[in-house]
Amino acid sequence: MSISVKNVFKYYGEQAALNDVSFSINSGEIVGFLGPNGAGKSTMMKIITCYLTKSSGTVKVCGLDVEEDSIKIRQKVGYLPEHNPLYLDMYVKEYLTFVAGLYNSKADKEQKIDKKTRVAEMVQLVGLEKEQHKKIGALSKGYRQRVGIAQAMIHDPEVLILDEPTSGLDPNQLVDIRKLIQNIGKTKTVMLSTHIMQEVEAICDRVIIIKDGSIVADDTKSKMQKDGNNYQVVFVEFDIEFSRNKLKLIEGVGSVKNVQGNTWLIQATGEKDIRPAISKFAQQNGLLVLTQRIEEKTMEEVFKSLTKN
Ligand code: ADP
Ligand code: MG
Repeated sequence: MSISVKNVFKYYGEQAALNDVSFSINSGEIVGFLGPNGAGKSTMMKIITCYLTKSSGTVKVCGLDVEEDSIKIRQKVGYLPEHNPLYLDMYVKEYLTFVAGLYNSKADKEQKIDKKTRVAEMVQLVGLEKEQHKKIGALSKGYRQRVGIAQAMIHDPEVLILDEPTSGLDPNQLVDIRKLIQNIGKTKTVMLSTHIMQEVEAICDRVIIIKDGSIVADDTKSKMQKDGNNYQVVFVEFDIEFSRNKLKLIEGVGSVKNVQGNTWLIQATGEKDIRPAISKFAQQNGLLVLTQRIEEKTMEEVFKSLTKN
């Protein structure tokens, strides 16, 4: 288990920003942490990264307790905070060398980093070669974001916590940073918060949704998209109109709903994939299948239905 959060409360004065939050993340997972503004995402991430203390509950990272082993956890966790705070007057390489140096303090005896090699590796990994000699203040937002990710990974952490890593990027930059995160996710545990649902669809295996400080959903992406539909629903378009009653005769088919004309929503009665049966049926009855796909909710629809008031 990489991250384990149990019954966590966090109060800012009277306000419970986190209200009995529990979840866990296994090593190697890429988990999307979603929620409307003010839901408590950044607060949770700050607690996991030991930047903020919780009011109550238990948080463990790589088996270590955030209160007892905060220094050890920081060695194992990389963190890109919201708004990516950087020293704009520093040069890219200078800044990364500085951050690498922070991990070479006396307290971190176990974690000696060869700064020069590591900075060069990070520059290459995040694609900063061309910009590495510039001042951070001179970089575009996408490149600053890369510096933030490089900074988070400089000590080769097991776990990466990325708080809105792609906010404010243009569509091309977005694709680049997503690819980068996906690549990183092959070898690390990644928890990232975002507002962009396509991002979740593109990168994450699992999704945790928080609203007003409470978890409202925690499941694999595909399960959430099935939501409510226990069994498969297939959208089918035939070349000609056909009778509903005949379609009901297809093996494994329960309800059949006409969308319009030649298009249908056909639901299975069991776990079995009914698409082969539909194709076979079409062939036997002189129909052509023009389209056939499993109906799923988009993450956008899932998010809206779970977080609206
Ligand atoms: P999110 O990242 O999901 O947008 P946050 O964790 O930043 O949410 O905030 C959750 C709630 O806690 C919000 O209502 C926010 O105003 C409040 N909050 C966050 N940080 C502080 C703070 N330092 N002092 C007081 N209230 C805060
Ligand atoms: Mg936030």
